[in-house]
Amino acid sequence: MSDKSAIVMRERCQATVSKRWAKEPRRCKFTTLRGIYCWQHEQQIRNFRIKKSNKHDGYGLFSTEFIPANKYICGYEGDRVVTHDNIKNPFMLKIKKRPPTYIDASKTNIKQEGRWVKDPPGSNNAEIVLQNGKAYLYSIKDIPANTEITAAHKIAEEPKAEPEPIPKRRILKKPTHRLLPRRKPQTKTRQEIIDERYQKKLKIRLQFIRKLFHDSNFAKQLGIKVNPKKTITIPKQDDSTIDQYHKRLEKKVKEQEKALMNYINKNPQAKVDHIKVIDMIDALIKKKKPKLQEE
Ligand SMILES: [Zn+2]
Repeated sequence: MSDKSAIVMRERCQATVSKRWAKEPRRCKFTTLRGIYCWQHEQQIRNFRIKKSNKHDGYGLFSTEFIPANKYICGYEGDRVVTHDNIKNPFMLKIKKRPPTYIDASKTNIKQEGRWVKDPPGSNNAEIVLQNGKAYLYSIKDIPANTEITAAHKIAEEPKAEPEPIPKRRILKKPTHRLLPRRKPQTKTRQEIIDERYQKKLKIRLQFIRKLFHDSNFAKQLGIKVNPKKTITIPKQDDSTIDQYHKRLEKKVKEQEKALMNYINKNPQAKVDHIKVIDMIDALIKKKKPKLQEE
């Protein structure tokens, strides 16, 4: 089962690759002497590997995933040839007696992988079935992943595999990067993201302080009267620059921290300073992880 009759054709991999930074998907840059995809794409798109066999001295077709019995594997493609010559080429598959008609799969750059399925001594796990004048490979037993697919190089007279509609493409378990949705282009700059995060943090802090004023349990623990009417309006950016806005937010936070300090110190026994209030708010935010409420 040597590959001496093969016509080796170098093919640029026909897969396309999407890159985040490129507008258009590009064609894979690798070339191959075995089929139409580089080995990575052969595996990713087709779930096959074409590699050196340990059953014969040529290349063989290996499935990278489990194929149950009686399933379509791939096509046996090639040029249709009518000849009365005595054929010795193992890639020529006789499909008709009169006139003697063959599928010539000598060229390596054939789309379907059937040509790589060899017929070494021993039992086979697949067979070639003729359907509407075309040849296809079907499994005749369960084929574990990473097993070479082998079949007799003749049309199965009585197919063990029940011919079924040919699927367009074998279903992939995981989507390839080609099928994944493209990531949205990043429109914000790094600085904008940092600024937004900072603003969010300050706003959450203001909302949290307001909640503390309204929290009757909190007031009870501190031995003070709850202040449900306390309002804190969160400044809006409006026309101010980012820096101005940050200063306004920071000022408001400081103001409200001090207001909370005074509120707590309404209990004559409590003696908290600004630093203590800051620490207390930090600890509570860390514990309760409040989210920003839209308002
Ligand atoms: Zn490729």
